[in-house]
Amino acid sequence: MKGIFVVGAGPAGMFAARQIALAGYDVFIFNRDIKPGGLAEYGIYPLKEKMKAGLRKQFAQVLALPNVHYFGNILIGDSYDISLAELEAMHPAAIVFACGAQGARKLRLPGADAKGVYAAKDFVYHFNQLPPYSGMDFSTGKHIAIVGMGNVAIDIARWLLQDAPDRKTESVTIVARRGPLEIKFDEKEIEYVEHHIDRDELAAELARVKEPCTRCNQDVSPEKIYAEHFRKLNDPGFQFAPPRLSFRFLSSPVAILPDANGRIAKLEVAENDLVLKPDGSTSAVQTDRLVTLDIDTLIFAIGDAHDAKIGLPMGPEGYATEPDPANPNEAHYAVWNPATESVVPGFYVTGWARKASTGLAGIARHDGEVGASKAIEFVKNAPDSNTLSEEEILARLEARGLHPITKADLALLARAEQREAQQRQMPSFKYSRNDEMFNAIADESLEQAEPQLAPTS
Ligand SMILES: Cc1cc2nc3c(=O)[nH]c(=O)nc-3n(C[C@H](O)[C@H](O)[C@H](O)COP(=O)(O)OP(=O)(O)OC[C@H]3O[C@@H](n4cnc5c(N)ncnc54)[C@H](O)[C@@H]3O)c2cc1C
Repeated sequence: MKGIFVVGAGPAGMFAARQIALAGYDVFIFNRDIKPGGLAEYGIYPLKEKMKAGLRKQFAQVLALPNVHYFGNILIGDSYDISLAELEAMHPAAIVFACGAQGARKLRLPGADAKGVYAAKDFVYHFNQLPPYSGMDFSTGKHIAIVGMGNVAIDIARWLLQDAPDRKTESVTIVARRGPLEIKFDEKEIEYVEHHIDRDELAAELARVKEPCTRCNQDVSPEKIYAEHFRKLNDPGFQFAPPRLSFRFLSSPVAILPDANGRIAKLEVAENDLVLKPDGSTSAVQTDRLVTLDIDTLIFAIGDAHDAKIGLPMGPEGYATEPDPANPNEAHYAVWNPATESVVPGFYVTGWARKASTGLAGIARHDGEVGASKAIEFVKNAPDSNTLSEEEILARLEARGLHPITKADLALLARAEQREAQQRQMPSFKYSRNDEMFNAIADESLEQAEPQLAPTS
């Protein structure tokens, strides 16, 4: 049998699996988390229920295909549960790595190990209830700085300003290395939190960075910036509502100063100058002008990095993919080994594993499908690899002391969660600990096995 393995069950992995299954091959998904979905389940904002429900339904349809097999709760990687060599010893015809970008990017600053300093993905995993992050301390204080000005930064601000159940938030400050013209968040996302912006304060901040921006031919007048990024601020009836959302442009964090308990108390930032380059682009250049912000929580939302512990060859941009000097901008999916200067036969990367922190779920889906088609093309021309069967793979995983979750287990878990949701009168419910999920699966399975007792009169 020529079976294809997929590592990761986020949008890229799930839609890669669908493509492979529809091409007639058996596909075996290995996923770190018990449940499929990746960041669609554990990253997308918790209140985007309709979007999440739609994606869950599509993932369930993929799992319903008879030639799709699933092993959840299994971490693949040379430093994890199953090494790449062990995976290859199960004889896949090809492997598609769709494991996302699990490494956190934090600036290496003095004091960075202070309490209250977090990477955005870990924080988002926490409030989206992904074990083990769900049970870890991600406490926030009154004054929070978020470094970065993309959609993830705004999602986190929204959570802290409006929805975190235990929030004490009085202010959230977005700290950005570059100027207002480099804002990366979408209008749809900022709309949720625009009423927390003090119009006069933002106007003063735009005035503060006007000189270097104007020197680089950047118009940062409130009229222009509001029209492009903060539409509601142009509304004559606009009203500010606390807590406060502030912006600090052209600023780079340089040091974290902890208090006596080891928690961040201040963030030192250097003001940046903006410099026009000969090609018309700009770069932010750090000056020696320092400003200290009173902050008790700091979150880095500057994108994710690839996970080196998996053991795939790494290049400057993450996992190395086949270079093509003739088409340097074209996307490549085959894994490249720089040491041997050749592709690793049958290894492909896709989604955020190919390009970290790039694109929404729809883009990851498309990338998964393209990556899968490359793997299918390779497998078509390859000899039979004698891939192990589902039962044989399960036996190997269990012999290693692992606790793989199968499609049948997921169906039991879904039923248990539906029942909980009904009992709690919630639109949906999800367990936030692995042991709770194991117990729910076991209980549900027992319930199904028990013979129905005749009602007693
Ligand atoms: C905070 C946030 C908010 C977002 N909001 C939106 C939104 O509103 N709308 C939208 O369309 N998109 C949104 N996105 C983007 C979207 O989530 C991504 O485009 C998409 O999830 C990327 O898919 P992926 O499959 O490549 O990676 P991921 O979704 O990260 O999936 C990776 C999968 O691999 C598994 N995995 C990781 N390591 C291993 C390993 N070693 N072994 C086995 N399995 C492993 C993980 O468990 C996971 O299931 C958001 C992203 C973030 C971070």
